[in-house]
Amino acid sequence: MDTHIIALNLSTIRKRIHNSAQSVQRNKNDINLVAVSKTQGSNKILEAIHAGQRLFGENRVQEAERKWPGIKQAYPDVALHLIGPLQTNKIKQALRLFDVIETLDRPKLAEMLAMEMKKSGRFPECYIQVNIGEEPQKAGIMPSDATDFIGYCQNELQLPVTGLMCIPPVDEAPAPYFSLLASMAKHSHLANISMGMSGDFEMAVAHGATHVRIGQAIFGERVG
Ligand SMILES: *Cc1c(COP(=O)(O)O)cnc(C)c1O
Repeated sequence: MDTHIIALNLSTIRKRIHNSAQSVQRNKNDINLVAVSKTQGSNKILEAIHAGQRLFGENRVQEAERKWPGIKQAYPDVALHLIGPLQTNKIKQALRLFDVIETLDRPKLAEMLAMEMKKSGRFPECYIQVNIGEEPQKAGIMPSDATDFIGYCQNELQLPVTGLMCIPPVDEAPAPYFSLLASMAKHSHLANISMGMSGDFEMAVAHGATHVRIGQAIFGERVG
């Protein structure tokens, strides 16, 4: 395989992010590229790091535990976001490894996270995952419950909630959902808006994303 393909892909995506930002008069530096390395091996992750990428996303705690401790030790300026569901029995491991937890989506998880944060002294920022399309099979807090849940997390539990995250329905135009998430973040004074993947990140940037989560457009098709 051409060993420069990941560096090339990263540079293309950065350019596309910049163009999209420019088209709506946003500062390109306000948009963070989260390279989603789920299912990808350490060789590909290291190639992205060598190309200057410092922000990554994984969706499984156990997989991340196998891949990341060594890499994070070698590259202390690398940051890792959890973008997949967090089971309460994995909270301890997640707090050790992740710098941001993007998938806070229910009261029970919030309560246990708050407890474990105090115990461990580690306080990674949390984004609240919103089930923006109100899809029964999807994780996330319902849009109508979001304001209350954000207040509960911040005020009662003292969790460091700094953003919102969503995955819009796959078979619909994403723009209205991106726009709704951005207005919800504004309403709750949350600075970070994580939305947009390989197929729709330019649209997400145009609607206010501060974090786009991109896997296949960087690393190619997923392994396994
Ligand atoms: C896999 C994944 C992504 C990246 O998807 P691509 O289509 O590979 O860009 C983004 N967000 C979440 C939550 C994911 O699980």
